[in-house]
Amino acid sequence: MLTINHRFVLEFYKEDGTALGQVPAEDVDWEPARECALFDSARQAPGDVAAEDTTTTIEPVPHPSAGAPYIGGFRVAITADGSPLAACEFPSDYFKSCAQRAAAGLVEQGVFQAGEKFRYLVSAYPQMREKAKQEATAIVMKESIVAVPMKVSRLEDYTRASMTIGDGDGADMPVFVPQAVLDEVSELTRAAEAVETGGVLLGHVHRSDATAFLAVTAQVPAKHTHADLNKVVFTADTWTAARSAIALRHQQELLVGWWHSHPGKFFCNAECPPEKRKACALQKNFFSGDDVAFHRTVFPKAFHVALVATNADSGIQFALFGWNRAILEQRKFNVLHCTKPAAVVERSVHETTCKS
Ligand SMILES: [Zn+2]
Repeated sequence: MLTINHRFVLEFYKEDGTALGQVPAEDVDWEPARECALFDSARQAPGDVAAEDTTTTIEPVPHPSAGAPYIGGFRVAITADGSPLAACEFPSDYFKSCAQRAAAGLVEQGVFQAGEKFRYLVSAYPQMREKAKQEATAIVMKESIVAVPMKVSRLEDYTRASMTIGDGDGADMPVFVPQAVLDEVSELTRAAEAVETGGVLLGHVHRSDATAFLAVTAQVPAKHTHADLNKVVFTADTWTAARSAIALRHQQELLVGWWHSHPGKFFCNAECPPEKRKACALQKNFFSGDDVAFHRTVFPKAFHVALVATNADSGIQFALFGWNRAILEQRKFNVLHCTKPAAVVERSVHETTCKS
């Protein structure tokens, strides 16, 4: 059950502080925050988190300087049969995507111009108990939590055998991807040429003291995708192939994410001059709106990741996206077993060289 006894409102301002108006934050997706709180608890607890009947409560945290009704963030508390199971605080940045949608509405209404910079504050107001109760029951009835199976390992053993690449902070959880998986993804991306291709990532979640990390072990190409230049769609056969691979490999792997390619250099117009192609946004790493929607629906767990291979003029570039404190963003990752002497991890942004 999800209990929210507050109504959240976004207040928009111009850069110079002029008020632009208020919009209720009605379409907040609380699930990533709930997942993050559960994962946080699972990696710290000696036993695995699993419960039948849970209640999730969202409580505002007052803004440190502006005070109530403004909030600095919110707290997610999860209880199972009345006992505390997990609790976690999140900053008001969590409302960013909601604010962007609301701002687009204000642009349509002509309140401000598209591209004009804005600021926003989030405020919270108590709701009538009865109404809150009704809404709470209308959202989710009963939720059970299935524990994430975690292997007990030593993080140092992995960091010693790897090197960090990529943008973003990745503070939430270290992620390790074997060089062999990147090599396979490169090959499939090149072979697919102008068409997007993809696959599923297998791996394990590990616990090392109070921290958790993810280690990808293999990729299963999605042979049965409906692919075209702009989109890769996984079919039921993709999932069957991934499950068969897990069964055949006998390593009790989990589906830890997915990968797909962006045929960047084919997105670009061939007649485009080289300098322009070099600066082209389509040849850079990005996660599209479709990618975000797919990840949120199919890979909502806090440990789920998405690897993007961009086939650019300069070679294949890798970027990893994942949940960082419940916000989906680009993150750092570690290439495992870069054993080839000075093998180049193909990535042109910082010309990263992978040295053994
Ligand atoms: Zn994409």
